[in-house]
Amino acid sequence: MKPISFEFFPPKSEEGAAKLRTTRRQLAQFKPEYFSVTFGAGGSTQEGTLKAVLEIQQEGLHAAPHLSCIGSTREKIRTIVDEYKSHGIRHIVALRGDIPSGAGDVGEFRYANELVSFLREEYGDWFHIGVAAYPEFHPQAPSAEADMRNFVNKVKAGADTAITQYFFNADAYFRFVDDVTARGVTIPVFPGIMPIQNFSQLARFSDMCGTEIPRWLRLRLQSFGDDAASIRAFGLDVMTDLSDRLLAGGAPGLHFYTLNAAGAVSTICQRLGY
Ligand code: FAD
Repeated sequence: MKPISFEFFPPKSEEGAAKLRTTRRQLAQFKPEYFSVTFGAGGSTQEGTLKAVLEIQQEGLHAAPHLSCIGSTREKIRTIVDEYKSHGIRHIVALRGDIPSGAGDVGEFRYANELVSFLREEYGDWFHIGVAAYPEFHPQAPSAEADMRNFVNKVKAGADTAITQYFFNADAYFRFVDDVTARGVTIPVFPGIMPIQNFSQLARFSDMCGTEIPRWLRLRLQSFGDDAASIRAFGLDVMTDLSDRLLAGGAPGLHFYTLNAAGAVSTICQRLGY
């Protein structure tokens, strides 16, 4: 079976932490390569990421903290990364992050490639470095071409793997991989899979991150109205088909955005034969 990985966000309460433990136990049965934990996204804190990562590691599982650099300094990043290293963490997902609106100071890193270079210069090969990829292109990119060029630079700075933003169009992924491969990228690009649970939330996320919800999918989901069970059942079929198609077409594995819940992701993994 091709490798899979699961992404969490740091829980904000004891109740959330307990729920995440249960989710993790359920998902561990699929033998993922690693569990990653987001950083700074949606108001989560740096301490929350460290705490969640250490808990995963204490359970004997492979943990990969995300690390975003925008608004930070070399000193601050070094402090965080030293701490991870001292705990034996060997895998980081390196990101730029987003500047919160209104906050002006971009800090000492402008783009993720600078963080990747910094990690390689300071820590050599200690860390396996993952980076983000955008088959439908990053929302702030001036053009598809510029975005691919920037992605290639980020990989050349020393990334080992990439994880994509979630998407619903398999052709966008295949074309992106073909194009960056033609530009010399040889690292695996893992598709990010987002289970469909709730239409309005999905539409909001997708607007923010530049993911296109194709017309046929949007209209189908809208037609279920408030019927959450039908949305979930239909979403499971769509995401299992997409995952299946991606794996059959040569994707190296899958990365699941779990939103800290095991249900939908477990069903997709089971249907895929994991
Ligand atoms: P970059 O690779 O730096 O790209 C950002 C933009 O800048 C792109 O438009 C790119 O084309 C452009 N660019 C890059 N280099 C240059 C250059 N040298 N000159 C000019 N333009 C350039 N956010 C969080 O806050 N926390 C998380 O934990 C988190 N996890 C994520 C996990 C995944 C798998 C993904 C796909 C995204 C995640 N994000 C997270 C969101 C991410 O931080 C945002 O999408 C952010 O806007 C871009 O981050 P990046 O690392 O892709 O940036």
